[in-house]
Amino acid sequence: MPDSLTELTIHEAHDLLRSRQLSSVELNRAYLERISRVDPEVKAFVTVTDELALEQAEEADRLLAQNGASPLTGIPVLVKDVICTRGVRTTCSSKILENLIPPYDATVVEKLNKCNAVLIGKANMDEFAMGSSTENSALFPTHNPWDLSRVPGGSSGGSAAGVAARETVYALGSDTGGSIRQPAGFCSVVGFKPTYGRVSRYGLVAFASSLDQIGPLTQDVTDCALVMNAIAGYDRRDSTSVPQPVPDYTQYLNGDLRGLRLGIPKEYFVEGMQAEVATAIKAAINQLEELGAEVDWEVSLPHTPYALAVYYIIAPSEASANLARYDGVKYGFSYQAPSMWESMEKTRQYGFGAEVKRRIMLGTYALSAGYYDAYYLKAQKVRTLIRREFDRAFEKYDALVTPTSPTVPFKIGEKVDDPLQMYLSDVCTLPVNIAGLPGISIPAGFADGLPIGMQIIGRHFGEETILKIAHAYEQSTDWHKRRPPL
Ligand code: GLN
Repeated sequence: MPDSLTELTIHEAHDLLRSRQLSSVELNRAYLERISRVDPEVKAFVTVTDELALEQAEEADRLLAQNGASPLTGIPVLVKDVICTRGVRTTCSSKILENLIPPYDATVVEKLNKCNAVLIGKANMDEFAMGSSTENSALFPTHNPWDLSRVPGGSSGGSAAGVAARETVYALGSDTGGSIRQPAGFCSVVGFKPTYGRVSRYGLVAFASSLDQIGPLTQDVTDCALVMNAIAGYDRRDSTSVPQPVPDYTQYLNGDLRGLRLGIPKEYFVEGMQAEVATAIKAAINQLEELGAEVDWEVSLPHTPYALAVYYIIAPSEASANLARYDGVKYGFSYQAPSMWESMEKTRQYGFGAEVKRRIMLGTYALSAGYYDAYYLKAQKVRTLIRREFDRAFEKYDALVTPTSPTVPFKIGEKVDDPLQMYLSDVCTLPVNIAGLPGISIPAGFADGLPIGMQIIGRHFGEETILKIAHAYEQSTDWHKRRPPL
């Protein structure tokens, strides 16, 4: 038994639970106790589902006693507050949904319930997943466990900080332009964005529907594979989910990288990138080479610099359509005024925060008559070029390796007044969503005690290859074993 129950990975906790050295109730009590101790500082949780967690833990213990356990049974999970949980408030960290209690579970939550996972709470995020620092939460900002004066990244900042601060064993996030990988990189945890269509989006509150994917944030790559085994797969309730069998991802974690070809696209070492980040990632790539991979340092993906502009047309356009549903009639906050129009206007005026309004305006403008061809249509064409460029690269390479973001975590408040600076923190992750590819961020070093993440990008439905590479790297380092000074 380890010194502290809140140091366990999924696979370690599972071994102890299965051998009955530990009960799920004990495990979850330890986490609830830790949450009450560290969350006043970290602020990763919007809701702590303590009663539900202990009920679910008791049920899990009954199952464990009958040997009916899955690898996730009885183990706590923190779910980003953009994913619907039946009977549990789901706010999207927005005033407009502050009191929304969904009447149904998202498919991923249903799948976790089937595994008898334990829901320990809902995680803070940038409002409607729009942001890169969790400062856009209308509730409160989340702090980076490695340095409480810094941001945890975003938009899944609560999920990443919660895992890093050991307030949960793992978490779910969503990623539209980097929202799982960038905070994972900032908090030194593993964050995985699956191929578009691999995990059902049913019950994920929509931001930009052609880009959104749900994925895990975990302490190591083995845990990531275990969660993917549970949540991936076709769902008839999400028309974009793909009917392709789900492999057992853990079978690919066997360490041998010989014969794998890795490309290093030079456009991802962008101007303005922090020197320590570039140095750490280059060292990590050298390590991959030592592990047997063939590395080509001279790859070029010349359309990469357009990805940011394309994303900031397509994502706000889709958001402006998706967010039209918040009219004060159907869900959440409702401003009562004498006329319907005034009610609707005031509901949106008071219900949405500044960044959400900015996106709605950008999107509405880009889609309006007369501008549609110049912006939205052109962005879609460039999107195709970016996708083709990746397809061509994957004819030659099994994976592409890049930094996850150009800097280490920045100070809270440093970029809030400069949206363009904030948008730039996703330059390395956005292209992956534009092309619908899978990508992982894994811990790859520190600069002055602040985490650095490495991104590995794979082919469509090639998640097993990137998990294999990530695992081999992880096993040859101890970055993932370091703990924040909390
Ligand atoms: N930071 C990006 C944005 O603000 C990406 C967010 C996300 O992936 N949900 O849109």
